[in-house]
Amino acid sequence: MVSALLLKDRFEKVVMLERQSRERFFRTRGYTFPIVFSPAALAVLDRIGVRTAINRERSPYFGVVVHKRILGRELTWTAKKEDIYSHWRNHIVASLYERLSEEGIEVQFEAVVEDIDFAANVCTEAKLGEVPFDLLLGADGIHSQTRGLVAAAGSQPDSFSSELLDRWYAYRLPAEGALGEKYASGDHGHAHVHADNLREFPSEKFRVITVAMTRPQPEVSVVVKYGAELSVERAKELNATFFSSVVESEVLEAEWNAGFGGEYRHVHAPTFHLGSTLLVGDAAHGFEGNGDLINLGTTSVATLPGLIDGHHGIPAALAAYDRTVGASLRTYSDYAMRRSLEQINFEVAAFEAGALLKLNPHHPSMWGIFEEDFEICSYMERYEKERRRIRNRVGALTAAVAAAGLHRLSRRAG
Ligand SMILES: Cc1cc2nc3c(=O)[nH]c(=O)nc-3n(C[C@H](O)[C@H](O)[C@H](O)COP(=O)(O)OP(=O)(O)OC[C@H]3O[C@@H](n4cnc5c(N)ncnc54)[C@H](O)[C@@H]3O)c2cc1C
Repeated sequence: MVSALLLKDRFEKVVMLERQSRERFFRTRGYTFPIVFSPAALAVLDRIGVRTAINRERSPYFGVVVHKRILGRELTWTAKKEDIYSHWRNHIVASLYERLSEEGIEVQFEAVVEDIDFAANVCTEAKLGEVPFDLLLGADGIHSQTRGLVAAAGSQPDSFSSELLDRWYAYRLPAEGALGEKYASGDHGHAHVHADNLREFPSEKFRVITVAMTRPQPEVSVVVKYGAELSVERAKELNATFFSSVVESEVLEAEWNAGFGGEYRHVHAPTFHLGSTLLVGDAAHGFEGNGDLINLGTTSVATLPGLIDGHHGIPAALAAYDRTVGASLRTYSDYAMRRSLEQINFEVAAFEAGALLKLNPHHPSMWGIFEEDFEICSYMERYEKERRRIRNRVGALTAAVAAAGLHRLSRRAG
């Protein structure tokens, strides 16, 4: 929807093909899950005229509290940031759709794409028949059909894949009693990230993230992340253990049962581009997000109008996107994969030690995309450069320590 609104003036007609029924598309279950927009993403929402509508239901959100056990004791670390808000996803979807309707952009619900002919630029849909296109954006999410068709028609089909990392389950709890005290006190929210498995079941991957929402009413949104090998029943039991001291068991049972779950997958796509077709959003670079996915999707598609204006023909513009924004998104995705596999702790510590000494900027996981001037290409170039510098610095330090050790040994031997 963001892409359609960004590009509407450059094409005679924009059609959105949506697989779900209208009812499912707008289904809210009363809530969905919170989304926190970065300043760069908000600027894009401004550009397409939806920011005011989206802001109508925002909740103030001032930071993240990380809970981490060190030597058996739970320690907390808080990172604060002003002027950041969280929004229920369903409200964002409704606001974007309202804007599409104002612009007269057609959405075909229950669409069934039968084929895409990438050479002739024709998409075949069950009801509409053959739909010729100048530009086709595959914005069809983590299980993207477009990605599968691009892979099959491209030169390196085996390099496209998606792998299951973890599972998630989302539900909400009333911001009351001991739970409210712990996770939702005051007039704004914090996200609480519990970064360890449960003390009682240390070998089963189970993490809890809560976000306090204040609008339209105070409540605590809960997302649990659990190992792909665990069943949802087991996740429910672990969740009950986690919340047993702060929520009554009947309330927890009822609220969990009203929730919903899914998978965290990582997409490997060596290119996002084939002819006049481009993969965007999760279809292109889906990974286990850390509050960054929608923001990256939104800010990256915002480069398309400029690229289309600056190139002769759509394929040339898309090729330029793939070489620049696409390459940076793939680097970000590699970093996100290492993050999912919990392989970045040393890197984060090295970055943050350098940042403390003002030798380098903060690590991308430390509010990276929330910097005011965030732009994916320059950001990833800087990150890669700093990573190399830190590696060299650590290498030089290790060599110096080893040389000093050898020197002392040789003096002793002498
Ligand atoms: C629990 C949870 C919490 C999250 N929290 C955050 C957060 O705080 N911040 C953040 O930035 N991101 C967050 N994300 C990630 C975020 O939701 C996704 O990155 C984002 O929705 C991706 O947008 P998209 O438009 O690319 O894909 P989607 O939102 O998945 O939209 C794809 C659309 O395409 C439709 N579709 C699929 N296949 C077809 C087809 N074959 N034909 C036609 N239509 C099709 C789908 O029905 C859907 O409407 C979260 C995700 C989860 C699961």
